[in-house]
Amino acid sequence: MQATHFHELEDGRCRCDLCCRHCVIAPGEAGFCGVRALTDEGFVTLAVDRVVSAGVDPIEKKPLFHAHPGARIFSFAMAGCNLACPWCQNHTISQWPREHGLPFLPGERITPADLVARAVASGCRWIAATYTEPSVFFEYALEVARLARAAGLRNAWVTNGTIEKAPLAELIPLLDAANVDLKCYGDRAAEGILGIRSAHVGETIRALIDAGVSTEVTTCLVPGFNDAPDHLGKIVEFMASLGPAGIWHVSRYHPMYQWEAPPTELSSLAAAVTAGRAAGIPFIYVGNARIERGEDTACPSCDALLVSRCGYTVRACRVTPAGACPDCGAPIPGVWG
Ligand code: SF4
Repeated sequence: MQATHFHELEDGRCRCDLCCRHCVIAPGEAGFCGVRALTDEGFVTLAVDRVVSAGVDPIEKKPLFHAHPGARIFSFAMAGCNLACPWCQNHTISQWPREHGLPFLPGERITPADLVARAVASGCRWIAATYTEPSVFFEYALEVARLARAAGLRNAWVTNGTIEKAPLAELIPLLDAANVDLKCYGDRAAEGILGIRSAHVGETIRALIDAGVSTEVTTCLVPGFNDAPDHLGKIVEFMASLGPAGIWHVSRYHPMYQWEAPPTELSSLAAAVTAGRAAGIPFIYVGNARIERGEDTACPSCDALLVSRCGYTVRACRVTPAGACPDCGAPIPGVWG
């Protein structure tokens, strides 16, 4: 299928404009993600209809804590990612196209219309593009989002935030919620490992928030990558700069793929939470680890308990449908009604 968001170069190659990598692709080759390629049929996306994962999750698993707590969300993915994080928990599907090469992707053949029909039949009110990086299957995910919106579903993306501004502008009117991975911030060594500019991810987060998309941010605290105090300080500083919209999930890393460091110490997670609170980030959650009240939502104004959680289970939610603390009236960002 013809891809969008690219332009032809004078020397016969194409430059992909979908994500911040801006791959320059020669005939017969694919970009870094392995999904977009220059073939005899032009600049194409291989992500046409092959879905590697489709099923129902608790919305807390995304994680989305400020979007209809306790809801179920129909989640789907296609193979491929524009990053190759050495600790990727989903590397078997995210790295598949890069490791296997052209010309096809794995997965079940499902059209966007059939996928949305499955989501509706599941009884979910939400649908999420997740597990891998949705922007590399942008055309498919956008069509799903259009059809889902028309069918009365709400759309969410779980993304690494590296999408370029033009495709993001196309997506935003269809998006209700997003969780953006902020893997690093302002640290050259970490950016070098990922091959991205972290400021770009920060700009995506701000653009989503400014557009009214309910936006949460996740940082997986990876020993030896982003847990040094000065680097963590920059991440915290960025999150604090989001003001009342700052919703930060700090999650525990476990050894996976090519990264062999031991799991994140609980003391490191606690230190990140303490630093975040001291900086004034209003909502901080701990993922993949049990820390006292680490999954609860408290009012940043009066400290009342608003949402009580245990794992993916929501015990109680007191946020008003209009998105306010019932005790003091402070606004709580998110999708509640
Ligand atoms: S979407 Fe893929 S091909 Fe396009 S710039 Fe990003 S990594 Fe390269």
